[in-house]
Amino acid sequence: MLDAKDVGWGASGRNGGQVNPMLPVERPEHLRKAVGDVYFERLAEVSLNSAEELFELVRRYGIACDARQNGWLRVDHCPAARDTARKAAKAWNAFGAGFEFVDGAELRRRTRSPAYDTGVLSAKGGAIQPLSLARGLADAARKAGARIFRNAPVSTAERTGSRWKLSTDRGQILAQSVVLATNGYTDGLIPGLARSILPVYPIQIATDALSDEEIGTILPEGHTISDTKRMIMYARRGPGNQAVFGGIGFRRPFGGLGGRRWLLQDVARIFPSLRRVAWRYFWGGRIALTADRIPHLHEPAPGVIAGLGYNGRGVAMSLVMGRVLAERLLGAGLETLPFPISPIRPFAFRGTQRAGSSLAMSWMRMRDTLEMR
Ligand SMILES: Cc1cc2nc3c(=O)[nH]c(=O)nc-3n(C[C@H](O)[C@H](O)[C@H](O)COP(=O)(O)OP(=O)(O)OC[C@H]3O[C@@H](n4cnc5c(N)ncnc54)[C@H](O)[C@@H]3O)c2cc1C
Repeated sequence: MLDAKDVGWGASGRNGGQVNPMLPVERPEHLRKAVGDVYFERLAEVSLNSAEELFELVRRYGIACDARQNGWLRVDHCPAARDTARKAAKAWNAFGAGFEFVDGAELRRRTRSPAYDTGVLSAKGGAIQPLSLARGLADAARKAGARIFRNAPVSTAERTGSRWKLSTDRGQILAQSVVLATNGYTDGLIPGLARSILPVYPIQIATDALSDEEIGTILPEGHTISDTKRMIMYARRGPGNQAVFGGIGFRRPFGGLGGRRWLLQDVARIFPSLRRVAWRYFWGGRIALTADRIPHLHEPAPGVIAGLGYNGRGVAMSLVMGRVLAERLLGAGLETLPFPISPIRPFAFRGTQRAGSSLAMSWMRMRDTLEMR
């Protein structure tokens, strides 16, 4: 395993820790249209079971990552979003999603937020501490015989005979097969792969350990929460009484990530009890959007396989993809895969969307705000 930086340096070590068992595809028919009947059944099943799969993996390898399956609340930012979310939840329940509706006083009891009247609960959802999970998985891989090389960016991949030669500035590796799992950090190693995804920049703020009294004012039963806005809000209680609150930011033209002020405004509205606590930490990272909002599995050359594009739901889905990539390398046939193997296609208007990222984010935030009035 070669990583340009370190285990968990990418989104896997710095994410919101929300284990959300659902693709960001609103309705089953949208998924069916995108992948066809055969893949629809399998992809619906693995995605709706993805949280169970993650928690089972954590148990099997004894990974200490503060894993909690206390449920995920997806709350509605406006009546129109509520109607859409309810129709979608009912439709997914026909495939075993197990979503429940939570309203009014009951919702406020579980969130302790005055900002939402309705929501959908997924009891299968939960949370993990992301860096601990990434490191725990790496330890499990090492114990199974894997060798992990950090600070080893692969600069070229060339076919030599029946094998691939991967070059880094520290040395070379000859490999039978190559697996690319670079998601939002995908570079030019495989032609066209970077252009097939749109990088987006989720951002987060967190507190130090709060007092029991302070942390008790949000999410008392340990649910995770996210909302239906275009510029999604998500939050959870971290290990040791920390509060973690996230949203979507933007890449500043001269470096660094913007959007921290938005998060502080949102905290004040959503969890007013935490308005005055010190949000000492701010960070973000890169994720990969795909045009159809579905993770992509590619086989661009013999012996090369790539899985990416989790559209912000990668905590659970990247592990599903990891399993599928491994099974495929071990000989699994197309008839067993939950993802179709698709050609690498460019993401339409990617350049324009990247250049206008901060404007686009401000525009979407304005639309969300208007809808909330
Ligand atoms: C701030 C933030 C919050 C998020 N919150 C959530 C959440 O709450 N729930 C959820 O489901 N998802 C969330 N996500 C998304 C989720 O974290 C990702 O979808 C998932 O971690 C992707 O995992 P990955 O292993 O495919 O990629 P990553 O973890 O991003 O890893 C990619 C790795 O590829 C390496 N790499 C790139 N190019 C090369 C090269 N040429 N040679 C060697 N190595 C290379 C990088 O160094 C990096 O370590 C969030 C993401 C971020 C950034």
